[in-house]
Amino acid sequence: MARSYPSIILSTLLLFLPLLTGVEAEAKKFPVVVSTWPFIEAVRAAWRAVDNGSSAVDAVVEGCSACEQLRCDGTVGPGGSPNEKGETMLDALVMDGVTMEVGAVAAMRYVKDGIRAARLVMKHSQHTLLAGEGASAFAISMGLPGPMNLSSPESVNKWSDWKENRCQPNFRKNVVPANDCGPYKPIDVSREVLTEYSCEMGTAEYRLPLVGPHSHDTISMAVIDKMGHIAVGTSTNGATFKIPGRVGDGPIAGSSAYADDEVGGCGATGDGDIMMRFLPCYQVVESMRQGMKPEKAAKDAVSRIARKFPDFVGAVVAVDKNGSHAGACHGWTFQYSVQSPDMDDVQVFTVLP
Ligand code: ASP
Repeated sequence: MARSYPSIILSTLLLFLPLLTGVEAEAKKFPVVVSTWPFIEAVRAAWRAVDNGSSAVDAVVEGCSACEQLRCDGTVGPGGSPNEKGETMLDALVMDGVTMEVGAVAAMRYVKDGIRAARLVMKHSQHTLLAGEGASAFAISMGLPGPMNLSSPESVNKWSDWKENRCQPNFRKNVVPANDCGPYKPIDVSREVLTEYSCEMGTAEYRLPLVGPHSHDTISMAVIDKMGHIAVGTSTNGATFKIPGRVGDGPIAGSSAYADDEVGGCGATGDGDIMMRFLPCYQVVESMRQGMKPEKAAKDAVSRIARKFPDFVGAVVAVDKNGSHAGACHGWTFQYSVQSPDMDDVQVFTVLP
């Protein structure tokens, strides 16, 4: 018997219903925003952007930029982490996991918008990383506000106290200062002799505890947009009392952040001088490519560093292309923040060392 048109339409719909439901469930995984630390307003800003249809790259920029404007923990954006000369400098990076393009700025002066400057490098130059005054000049020439003083009353006070404390602690090692705050002369002595010097002559062998539970230093964020594309970004004003010219892990692709659409992404925070030697985020993404789950990949990357530098302090957060995430840390308790379609608001996850 010939079937009526309505019954054909109904059976066709029934046939495709599981498929449609599957697609819908798939769509609900995204977008996803993951960020180091409880930088909740930054995650909300990225979420608003990506939920309204922004690309992963643009949402990462919105999120990190919000953190810069809020000066998250005083360690992102202007007005924090004075260097030995009392000046704040910025490190930032953005990476597009679709094209593998990267834009980054390092030790950038006079411009407060680190992550926007990084995006300008990515979108409007064939370079990957610009440093120092060249980075500032480029950012200003492309329309960002500047030049401006990046100091704040807090950063100036912190620096004055440090000067009064004979510039201790600092990042120098194996040196003798002519005066309390330098100039410094290199010395080549055994550790025992150096320790004596340290006490008696103010020699700076001491290594500054770079970050503590109340001075989280870097926002490193990953966003998967509605299309399932992933981007990552980082912004920091680095290490307090660093030697002028120091570039941390923040603008180093594979170290502070890394993304590949085929696999997932990663963000890192902690002692960048150590961590950048291991490219932990590259390691995380490549481990996930080989089949590791985010948790195992994150733990593996951190333990590779800890084996060589047991005293290092740091953490990574990994997210795979399906939005599964996990963190791992060493030397401190780490927190990271997430927003995804199954959450009403940002959720903070705590990871123990
Ligand atoms: N990684 C940053 C730096 O070394 C600091 C941090 O994330 O804690 O510049």
